[in-house]
Amino acid sequence: MSATGKLRVAIVGAGAAGLCVARHVSSRSTTFDPPVVYEITDHVGGTWFYEERVGIHDNGHPVHSSMYRDLRTNLPKEVMMFPDYPFDAQLPSFLSHRDILQYLQKYCKRHAITPYIKFNTVVEEVKPISMETVEGGAVTWEVISRGTYGGQNTQTFDSVFICSGHYSTPHLPSIPGIEHFKGAVMHSHSYRCREPFAHQSVVVLGAGSSGVDISFELVQANAKVTLSHNKPALAFPLPPEIQQAPPVVKVLEDGSLLFQDGSVAHAEVLLFCTGYSFHFPFLCPKQLGLGIQHHLVAPLYKYLLPPAFPSLFFVGICKIICPFIHFHYQVQFALAVLEGTVQLPSRKMMEEAAERERQMKVQKGVQEKHLLQMGSDQWEYYLDLATIAGISPPNPVVESLYEEVGRQRRMNPQAYRQINYKLVVTSQLYTKLQHPIF
Ligand code: FAD
Repeated sequence: MSATGKLRVAIVGAGAAGLCVARHVSSRSTTFDPPVVYEITDHVGGTWFYEERVGIHDNGHPVHSSMYRDLRTNLPKEVMMFPDYPFDAQLPSFLSHRDILQYLQKYCKRHAITPYIKFNTVVEEVKPISMETVEGGAVTWEVISRGTYGGQNTQTFDSVFICSGHYSTPHLPSIPGIEHFKGAVMHSHSYRCREPFAHQSVVVLGAGSSGVDISFELVQANAKVTLSHNKPALAFPLPPEIQQAPPVVKVLEDGSLLFQDGSVAHAEVLLFCTGYSFHFPFLCPKQLGLGIQHHLVAPLYKYLLPPAFPSLFFVGICKIICPFIHFHYQVQFALAVLEGTVQLPSRKMMEEAAERERQMKVQKGVQEKHLLQMGSDQWEYYLDLATIAGISPPNPVVESLYEEVGRQRRMNPQAYRQINYKLVVTSQLYTKLQHPIF
């Protein structure tokens, strides 16, 4: 605790998750000291700060954002918003990255968060000290940081929130013979716009949301696109300009690509849309009792905290979620834990709960690489966190809208953003709204 008897909170990252933590910590000033937010860059917004540049930034760190120029959100604003902070009513449902960045900047201003942010400061190490008190949760933390234009600094905290994002470190599955490929090899992390690919033959690896979205962009530049993926069949029609192919199994010595069905093709660009890896260079997972693999961080109680260190929180580690809603519930649950209004079970019970959750998923047939995916299960999770933390549960209309948008996207990923969802969401649920979201 600080000299004033309040809890000291560190936040790694000033993206949407970090800002959400800062907003809620700073509004509970009787229990918490003002938060300290560490941010490598000179701006807030993380992913939503579009940068044309790729590779290494002037500050010596890799460019963080994987945003591309013409991206439009895949969730409507009514589902994207923090439940306590709506978007401007005049904006359309599906927004550009500029709109989201402006929203986050306004959120900062509204909650006077900016003064808490140490910009141009990278967190180099987060480590627990006074290990013997771990079981009681009263461990303290040392955060070692370095200013881009200054020296190293060490500060002590009662709790640390990890909000450094997980869409920055490309996951590149190995393809035998890749060194023979004669064209350009890149990952969607470095894709910015379609023009450089005009009239080129591009093999897009992976049919997740980025792979499909980017393929649609590329055909608009008259690129010849082959979407290579391991799904049995896509549930939606593709335009004739996009060919489908099974996974690439090998690059042959002459530089051509060998697909799983034995077919061979030449391409000028190999574009990996194969997702991202978790990367926390400032943590020692072993010390924290955690396993961190490219696709998994475990065990985490309620997908949020390591049972051995219940004052360390990983915000937004899950996938296929509504990120801002997710942050909103996780953060308030975590703060209730720190305040003592929510009592956590013992370390052993939390470990068992995390393991039970894992086994249930495995029994349902969920592959290990998808253990952190939530999809429709997220709503029960938010309800659980809200009930324990004593806060309002999510609005059922938001869930209904999320599910409807998902259904439409699966049927037609090219056109789902054009639908008027206000008319689609059932009137029965719509009338349940106290504060209309549309
Ligand atoms: P980030 O936004 O990544 O922020 C992390 C911050 O931490 C960054 O500012 C970074 O500089 C900082 N940081 C990292 N390491 C350190 C360190 N060591 N020290 C100090 N600072 C550090 N979500 C939606 O809801 N709708 C969408 O339509 C949508 N589309 C997306 C499209 C793309 C291409 C991508 C990549 C993501 C998309 N997302 C979308 C998900 C998006 O990532 C989340 O909405 C959200 O922005 C994640 O916020 P975050 O704060 O967890 O991480």
